[in-house]
Amino acid sequence: MRAVVFAAVGELTVAERPEPVPGPREVVIETAAVGICGTDTHVLDGEFEGTVFPLVPGHEATGTVVALGPGADEGPSALAVGDHVAVNPSSTCGECDLCLTGRQNLCRAWNGMGVVRADGAAQQRFTAPVANVFRLRPDTDVFEAALIEPLACAIHGWDVLPRRMGDHVLVYGSGTMGLLMAQLAPRAGAASVTIIDVNPDRLVTAAEVGIEHRYTSAGDADRAEWDVVIDCTGSIAAIQDGLPRVMAGGVFQHFGVAPADATARYSPFRVYRDEVSVVGTMAVLNSFGRAVAMFETGAIKAQPMISHSFTLEDYAQALRMFRAGQGRKLQVRPNQDTSRTLLGQRR
Ligand SMILES: [Zn+2]
Ligand SMILES: [Zn+2]
Repeated sequence: MRAVVFAAVGELTVAERPEPVPGPREVVIETAAVGICGTDTHVLDGEFEGTVFPLVPGHEATGTVVALGPGADEGPSALAVGDHVAVNPSSTCGECDLCLTGRQNLCRAWNGMGVVRADGAAQQRFTAPVANVFRLRPDTDVFEAALIEPLACAIHGWDVLPRRMGDHVLVYGSGTMGLLMAQLAPRAGAASVTIIDVNPDRLVTAAEVGIEHRYTSAGDADRAEWDVVIDCTGSIAAIQDGLPRVMAGGVFQHFGVAPADATARYSPFRVYRDEVSVVGTMAVLNSFGRAVAMFETGAIKAQPMISHSFTLEDYAQALRMFRAGQGRKLQVRPNQDTSRTLLGQRR
């Protein structure tokens, strides 16, 4: 069986690995698709806190159950061979003060598959605990469903946003996360959704998924202030542009990942005087099952968001393309033997 292996910081290989064997309450999943995101580059570059090398990357995964460990076919999350599934990559200790107060996404011993210690899904087959595996409907596109993991992060993002029916929402960044947050906004009660991206090509995708108001600069928009402003870029310039556009009583959310040592400037007086809230959001908290439900009801237009699929052998090429900002969501499909462009040449 073939696997992508991050052998050490900056060292990527494709290697032969033994077939996985499921332990108690585990299943073996034949990988359909694995999304690539900024986290994978941070892990390979040694910038992700706690990564233990060597590590198989891949945390946005779907596939088909091909083997059951003891007890995997019992209980409320019982699985069967042949099930199409999406996998929640997070596991938590259940014992620390944060786990015990319902903040498992902030667990002091948090372990993300393909990110910290457990091997990820950029391999032909992998094991996962039953509790992390969510069955998909047979008619759900198992490749597009690899967007469920980032969608679960987006749903947690909405969970922690104080908001009201009829809010006007501004999103910075028309990448995967920005497009997911923006597509969820009407479901969360938004009266209008505006998306900003400095790259006009990315706004084409925003149009395709149904985001009505799109600009390369917020200064060109048909409003001057918004109740909810969400940064999905992590760019300091975008953050400093967006925070002053929150209207009085509104909220600014840091969704994008800024560099760990970066700082941004804002007016504490304005935050005080106008009761502006500033909130963060981190990963997934009890939102994975809801992400499956939202995906399967068609809340997200997935097809325009995924531009390329790569074989395991072409993983390095996929990462280079990601770093160059080309394409849209890039996927690795470990059991396919050709890399393909899924969207038209204009991208
Ligand atoms: Zn990701
Ligand atoms: Zn914990």
